[in-house]
Amino acid sequence: MANYTIKKGTSKENLHGTWWKHGKGVTVKCPTCGCIGNLDHDVSSEGVVSPSLDCPKCIFHEFVILEGWDEEARVRQGGDDVTAD
Ligand SMILES: [Zn+2]
Repeated sequence: MANYTIKKGTSKENLHGTWWKHGKGVTVKCPTCGCIGNLDHDVSSEGVVSPSLDCPKCIFHEFVILEGWDEEARVRQGGDDVTAD
């Protein structure tokens, strides 16, 4: 099953369909309507989000994968390489 890919972005770029770290959480910007939400889902080590992402504001409802999530995890394990904005 193909997952919808959410690309890694930043709050500055603020592009539709991207995700970025926000404090200890993860922010996702809806690919369709561009609304921003805190991800309160489980994310596997490969970045697969479960359950599916269901936008409260529009019809977007897909199984998604967070692109670049695994490299982010490696950075976290390597120490506290804190990335500010
Ligand atoms: Zn939406």
